[in-house]
Amino acid sequence: MDSMVRTPVRHGRRLGAMKTQLHCPCGEHIRGTDEDDLVEKTQAHLASEHPGMTYDREQILFIAH
Ligand SMILES: [Zn+2]
Repeated sequence: MDSMVRTPVRHGRRLGAMKTQLHCPCGEHIRGTDEDDLVEKTQAHLASEHPGMTYDREQILFIAH
C-alpha cells in the first residue's frame, strides 16, 4: 500500500496573474478586490441580472482580466 497521502494542490498566489475585473456581456463592469471577491460579486450579479446563468469560479476567472 502506498503510504504517500496525496495532498490537494494548493493554488498559490500567482503573482501578476490576479484578475480583479470582469466585463459582463450586458455591459456591467464588475470589479473585485481580488479573485475571490470578483467571483463572489460576479455570481451575485448573475443571480440578480441573469437568472439561470451560472458560472463556476474557473469560468468566471476565464473571462475576467
Ligand atoms: Zn451582466
